Amino acid sequence: MQQESPLPALEYRSVSHRYGETPAIKEINISLAEGEVVCLLGPSGCGKTTALRLAAGLEAPEKGSIWLHGEKVAGEGVMTAPEARNIGLVFQDYALFPHLTIADNVAFGIKDLANGDRKDRIHEVLKQVGMDQYEDSYPHMLSGGQQQRVALARALARNPNLILMDEPFSGLDARLRDEVRDRTLHILKKAGSAVLMVTHDAEEAMYMADRIVVMRDGLVIQSGTPEELYTQPTNAFVAEFFGEVNRISHKVTNGSIVTPVGTFPANVHHDGDEVEIIIRPEAFSLQPAPEKTIGPGHAKVLASKLLGRSSLIHMCTCETTGEELHLHARIAGRFLPEEGSIMSLKLDRQQAFVFPRT
Ligand code: ATP
Repeated sequence: MQQESPLPALEYRSVSHRYGETPAIKEINISLAEGEVVCLLGPSGCGKTTALRLAAGLEAPEKGSIWLHGEKVAGEGVMTAPEARNIGLVFQDYALFPHLTIADNVAFGIKDLANGDRKDRIHEVLKQVGMDQYEDSYPHMLSGGQQQRVALARALARNPNLILMDEPFSGLDARLRDEVRDRTLHILKKAGSAVLMVTHDAEEAMYMADRIVVMRDGLVIQSGTPEELYTQPTNAFVAEFFGEVNRISHKVTNGSIVTPVGTFPANVHHDGDEVEIIIRPEAFSLQPAPEKTIGPGHAKVLASKLLGRSSLIHMCTCETTGEELHLHARIAGRFLPEEGSIMSLKLDRQQAFVFPRT
């Protein structure tokens, strides 16, 4: 017998939304499988929060429809109330009620449970996030990381089918953020709910997500696993969003692109096309060269900096046009060639991408 494939936990079907004249979301199609953690990633104003608010039922879509587990909850004449969607929400500021104890904050979403069951559930979820000893405390008595855990417990209390998180770690300082992120990921994976999380931090998205949806100007630009987006970006915007890159602008001549760091095949581009070569700093490997002048495939070291786990080398090459090209190479560990020394460059082609110039 053929097994039915499970229904997506959340689906946006051709959803568009605008605020007055301002378009916020344009025809997005996104689907989340059961238990999948998906991050919406993009710069400020690209429509991430709007997408989340539409799923939560805090906005009604202007066009298209939203589905939860195969049931239409918004669009085309339907608008299910937020409280009837069984969704857990975690906001940027955690939105805990300051006048309620931690236990009462968690109780807020499960008022419909009988007294005893409610108490058990509160204890259970607070234990799940390691906060059960704080049931009688008030939010102001907790650190930012602890408040975030309570907000997560409140979201989990109803056993939601879907959890929506809006920049849930942005209020935490960098050191605490790593710890809270790690803990949150394991709690979410154990709980097994589908999660849609908004972030503008690519590293955070790669850390948390099974799949990342990159947005720009209200559109979905590319979606895939973190590895797919990092190794096979379909445009310069996505390539750049995942970390610093070197950009070389060039023209295609005789079916190839000749640059001081190597020759690239033109592939889909034609002679005369302006292209941009995006090279990740970690694509370079460097070897001291016997030469005293910069030729093709060579660069002069301008500065070398140890950044902890890696070293950053600032280099210049002589462009074929005579212009100087400034490049960054990132090498694992301590590698600090002397200023002024000439290096021969080797390039990992898997980390270099050719796109039309925009
Ligand atoms: P950020 O990362 O800064 O939170 P975002 O990617 O979440 O940004 P949205 O908040 O969804 O983006 O905003 C998308 C667009 O809609 C922006 O142009 C924004 O100015 C506009 N917008 C958002 N909320 C409103 C509102 N309530 N009224 C009018 N315009 C809005």
